[in-house]
Amino acid sequence: MGNQADVAVIGAGVVGLATARALHERDPDLSLVVLEKENAVAAHQSGHNSGVVHSGVYYRPGSLKARLCLEGRAALIDFATREGIRCQRIGKVIVASRPEEVPELSTIEERARANGVSDVRRLSPGELETRLPEVVGVAAVEVPSAAIIDYPGVARRLMDLLKAEGVDARLSSGVRSAVRRDGGWDLDTPTGEVAARYVINCGGLESDLLAEMMGVRSPVSIVPFRGDFYHLSERLRPRIPCLVYPVPDPDVPFLGVHLTPTVEGELLAGPNAALALSREGYRGGQWTAAQLTRMALFPGTVGLARRYGMYAAREWLKSWSPAEFLSAIRRLWPAVEENDLISRSSGVRAQAVRPDGSLEDDFVLVRGPQSLHVLNAPSPAATAAFAIGRRVADEANFRRGAVSTGPAGSGQRS
Ligand SMILES: Cc1cc2nc3c(=O)[nH]c(=O)nc-3n(C[C@H](O)[C@H](O)[C@H](O)COP(=O)(O)OP(=O)(O)OC[C@H]3O[C@@H](n4cnc5c(N)ncnc54)[C@H](O)[C@@H]3O)c2cc1C
Repeated sequence: MGNQADVAVIGAGVVGLATARALHERDPDLSLVVLEKENAVAAHQSGHNSGVVHSGVYYRPGSLKARLCLEGRAALIDFATREGIRCQRIGKVIVASRPEEVPELSTIEERARANGVSDVRRLSPGELETRLPEVVGVAAVEVPSAAIIDYPGVARRLMDLLKAEGVDARLSSGVRSAVRRDGGWDLDTPTGEVAARYVINCGGLESDLLAEMMGVRSPVSIVPFRGDFYHLSERLRPRIPCLVYPVPDPDVPFLGVHLTPTVEGELLAGPNAALALSREGYRGGQWTAAQLTRMALFPGTVGLARRYGMYAAREWLKSWSPAEFLSAIRRLWPAVEENDLISRSSGVRAQAVRPDGSLEDDFVLVRGPQSLHVLNAPSPAATAAFAIGRRVADEANFRRGAVSTGPAGSGQRS
């Protein structure tokens, strides 16, 4: 294909790869290039998440998250089944630890029904005890359709299939600059210049920076929220056969420290959601001058602190103190001891924040000149990736021979 493409997709996380697949399926003759800055796929969010296939119970009815989660989960499970990727339907139980949380549990049941998740049901205290004898709660809801999956495996397989079908998918090819030219963009990468008539930005933690580089005034800014996981001791693994979640805080788009069996046979507790000072800051205390400056200049920082200061302090504490983390786990499962916290790993969420400091709660797609930007794709975007890919392909509406343009420099929200 050389270095001239119809469409360039930036980012080889699950969203970028599923988008490339959707474009290729619609028009196999489209010349398509995927540009990834790391030397492997799924190097960031897609490879550092909980590995859960969400069912769609939490999201506001009618939102993109609600619609694309359900559509995407069906496509994801089909793909995993067809391609032999590890995926197990193990179900989920959402547990209210205190009476004050029970109304929120009812909201989740209502949302589930409104979103078309029909298998959700309330468990009686006796049923909860039979199902999870060591988990404590005053009420619980069961979501049998929840599953676990190998997301890096999904990403690797997507990459292999794209390459096998002739798509030019390049690793170690981070986009360093983008220059507008007649009829497209010139993208500079360490593996050479790429000219593309249309660009789709699926850059995750860097998506807002890439959008700005391409002249888009983004309505949101990405703020990194680190999530730490503890890997629990082997003795505990057989005792939790399904996903166990607390009732989430309705004011934030994070689900709270939960228990997750993985397809590798591990049992994880986490993640918390600690504001991070580096976009790829996988260890506590990491910061970059660029991110600090950005936070200082971002009008939303003050609002963020005002709205979520207490929440942020509690989540930071969990990152710094194993005892705090342990007490979050023990709210659900009192039998866990400090020496059951064997090792730790982390992921960093790309969470969009509005200029008033509020956290954006839905997926955000923004059109720019001859480009489309995925500017908020946090959880459940891995579950929803195939549906997001199709949606992005619809929005881009790219046709060979016809230059598809968005309103120049507009940052118009789709
Ligand atoms: C701790 C945690 C737990 C989560 N749990 C779940 C879960 O259980 N289920 C679920 O559905 N979702 C979960 N999520 C969310 C999910 O992982 C993300 O929504 C999803 O992976 C987003 O995919 P992406 O492709 O948009 O982003 P990413 O996977 O981050 O991919 C973006 C890619 O763009 C590349 N890139 C960035 N800048 C450039 C550039 N300049 N040039 C080229 N490439 C570039 C990056 O290297 C990266 O590979 C979780 C996320 C985290 C962090």
